Amino acid sequence: MWIPNNRYMQAEGVKDSAEQANAYLDAVLGDRDDTPGASRERRRAYVQEAPAMIDFLASEGVALRRLPSWPDYYCAPGESVPGRTVVSQLFDINQLGEWKSRLRPGFLAVPANLDEAMQLPYMKRSWTSKKTLARVIGRTLISRLSGKHLVTAGQALQGQMLHHALQAGVDIRVNAGVRELLLQDGRVSGVVIKKDGADWTIGARLGVLINAGGFSRNQKMLDQYIPGTSTAWTTTAPGDTGEMITEAARIGAAIAQMDARVGNPMALPPGETPPKPVVVQGDMAKPHSIVVDQNGERYMRESSSYMEIGSAMLERDTVAPAVPSWLVVDSQYLEKFMLAGSMPGAKKPQSWTETGFLRSGDTLAALAAACGIPADRLEATVQRFNGFVRNGRDEDFQRGDHIYSRWLGDTLDAASPTLGTVEKGPFHAIEVYPGDVSTFGGVLTDEHARVLRDEGSVIPGLYATGTSTASVMGYIAPGAGGSIGPSFTWGFVAAKHAVLSDN
Ligand SMILES: Cc1cc2nc3c(=O)[nH]c(=O)nc-3n(C[C@H](O)[C@H](O)[C@H](O)COP(=O)(O)OP(=O)(O)OC[C@H]3O[C@@H](n4cnc5c(N)ncnc54)[C@H](O)[C@@H]3O)c2cc1C
Repeated sequence: MWIPNNRYMQAEGVKDSAEQANAYLDAVLGDRDDTPGASRERRRAYVQEAPAMIDFLASEGVALRRLPSWPDYYCAPGESVPGRTVVSQLFDINQLGEWKSRLRPGFLAVPANLDEAMQLPYMKRSWTSKKTLARVIGRTLISRLSGKHLVTAGQALQGQMLHHALQAGVDIRVNAGVRELLLQDGRVSGVVIKKDGADWTIGARLGVLINAGGFSRNQKMLDQYIPGTSTAWTTTAPGDTGEMITEAARIGAAIAQMDARVGNPMALPPGETPPKPVVVQGDMAKPHSIVVDQNGERYMRESSSYMEIGSAMLERDTVAPAVPSWLVVDSQYLEKFMLAGSMPGAKKPQSWTETGFLRSGDTLAALAAACGIPADRLEATVQRFNGFVRNGRDEDFQRGDHIYSRWLGDTLDAASPTLGTVEKGPFHAIEVYPGDVSTFGGVLTDEHARVLRDEGSVIPGLYATGTSTASVMGYIAPGAGGSIGPSFTWGFVAAKHAVLSDN
């Protein structure tokens, strides 16, 4: 969760303030007519309420911590280099009893904190990483022996939230999709859900909070609002089908920023049917790699934030075929870095070559032929890039100029973390798609998370948060947690408003 000026930063003496965070958001978001969800009022409210939300969770016993060293994504006034991200501590999901099975699988198989997980791929090259691995293995064994099932990251955060909700006696209905919002005298008075084949009405005294995700799993809505994208490239929850945005619009809610998304470059390795997308943002930033379009041209800074990469791919595709693009690496890369979720090393699953997921060639020309890229263009692109590497500066796209860009690269190579020549055969390439981890447009809400109509009036009794809304982050991600931070914060703001005001 991206939380400026949070209690964990303060406790560790990491400098930040509301003024600094406001300056940063002003710089990276600006005051744009096409991002009403990111209005100045909403940004100010976010900066004020996000740390208060964290204080509330901490007071309820939710165990959180600062994610050490995860820089903000933009070089702009007010940026935080140590970073503003708050994460869950490891959590034992056995505490959830039968509810344990309701959580989606985590994206890390081992109970490693995120900062530890970032080190694990370097274990062949670094003693610190070897020690981290030993610590994680020890922790896994000890926890299993004591009957625990520790999880990390999003699974731990959601596990803790579910645990606290259950302990507080929250009545949770599952497999109970909301079909309709009910209105009484112009006020939202409840919802109709479908459960066990029947319609049920649930009344709401204080209000209804929509937190039903975005529409990354709805191809029709993608075609309408973000053409050129596909449900096959998303890693969002299966329920991100968008119907609550449509339903809110039906009763008069304004919708905005519908073409915004948290883009993320994805590879589709074989293994599952359909293939499960794997995020390759970190891969793209490592030395000895470049990304090219289908003409063999570089067109972006590969070590950018995932949202910038997602946008760059779609934009490029309007002038040259770039969906998919090719992530081209040499054999130096394979030895040192992960590729599409596989650990460093030349040996890759046989199915990767059999299915054509991994293309290879002893020379760049042979690789180009295997990928259907004009060989002369690819060779020229690589030659130009290698020249930049030798001179120590990427003159075309400034890869490695910003601290976040370098942080994404090889953390063991302080001198050149993201620039490395692509010159040692055999060469390899995989296709990369402009996938996403969320859409970022939806119903328009105010600084109290109340849903607004087109002309700006409030729909009484209706609140919304998360990716069902037009995000307070507009078209950008300020740092790690730019989606979940707002989702938690506006939920907190909505609940306070519903309880404490006449709404
Ligand atoms: C691997 C990975 C890593 C990520 N890392 C980060 C990160 O570090 N920080 C960050 O900010 N973001 C991250 N994201 C993105 C982030 O997880 C999502 O943007 C975020 O979870 C969206 O939260 P939400 O509250 O809007 O809704 P969701 O988490 O999408 O939840 C919406 C829920 O509503 C349910 N629903 C839908 N329709 C209905 C209906 N009609 N009735 C009832 N229920 C309904 C859905 O089934 C779903 O369970 C990551 C995503 C992935 C895949």
